[in-house]
Amino acid sequence: MAVRAYLKPRSPAEALALIEGDERAALVGGGAYLRLASRGYETAVDLCEAGLDYLREESEALRIGAMVTYRRLETDPAARNYCGGLLARCVGNIVGVQVRNIVTVGGTVAGRYAFANLTTALLALGADVVLERGGRKPLEQFLADKALVRDVLVEVVVPAVPQRGAWQDLTRVRADFAVLNAAAVRRGDAVRIAVGARPGAARLAFAAMAAAGAGDASGAGAAAAAELDFGDDLRASAAYRRRVCGTLVARAVEEVLA
Ligand SMILES: Cc1cc2nc3c(=O)[nH]c(=O)nc-3n(C[C@H](O)[C@H](O)[C@H](O)COP(=O)(O)OP(=O)(O)OC[C@H]3O[C@@H](n4cnc5c(N)ncnc54)[C@H](O)[C@@H]3O)c2cc1C
Repeated sequence: MAVRAYLKPRSPAEALALIEGDERAALVGGGAYLRLASRGYETAVDLCEAGLDYLREESEALRIGAMVTYRRLETDPAARNYCGGLLARCVGNIVGVQVRNIVTVGGTVAGRYAFANLTTALLALGADVVLERGGRKPLEQFLADKALVRDVLVEVVVPAVPQRGAWQDLTRVRADFAVLNAAAVRRGDAVRIAVGARPGAARLAFAAMAAAGAGDASGAGAAAAAELDFGDDLRASAAYRRRVCGTLVARAVEEVLA
């Protein structure tokens, strides 16, 4: 990635002002994914000094600043102990510690990467995103929004109520993208289930959630496999993913119901 100017704004508002109306400017989180791109940018707007490197435990929520790294999700007690370790579990096998020390929550969510384990887990958790211009909205709505307005993702907010979480993914070899990933989160009798890397973007599985809420783990797996769309790519066929989905969702639901 070649850049002509490298800027470090001191706040998300300053960062937004730098990118607004300038298609040649790119926000930089960890920069790990941007670096893989062949295109260059006139201006790189690095968020490393914008005050977004925080984890705040509040009575109602855990607020995760956009510049929090995957490694911090694994090591900071506030994140590591959250919801049965779901945040730490979903990122813990991604590449290696060096990469997880760099890549950020904000870069992952804002990048809308369909393969991203973290996005699937956040969807199951019922997370909201906070955007500098767009304000707070459910992650589900943010991911569905096709109008890609340039904005700065400030933080992700996950509910702090007692929850049980389970993570499942299947990779062909260690450090590869998942063939499929799935998360289940229980709050009382309700279970939220998200499935990603289908290879399309993460989606909630509503029929599966109804079956899980009735205590039927294998029914939830079958329902998720039936209701979601799957596709072919170099990692797996749609038919294989559908079968894997049934198994991974059933295992995740069994774990949160146990
Ligand atoms: C080699 C490699 C292997 C990987 N393997 C996996 C894997 O197996 N599973 C998996 O789930 N993930 C994987 N990832 C993805 C990784 O975990 C991150 O999702 C990815 O690197 C993006 O995070 P980043 O901080 O590097 O973002 P960047 O590269 O900095 O940015 C990504 C995009 O988001 C924009 N952006 C960054 N921050 C913000 C913000 N705060 N607000 C608005 N826009 C923003 C940037 O402009 C850019 O368009 C892999 C990444 C790498 C480099």
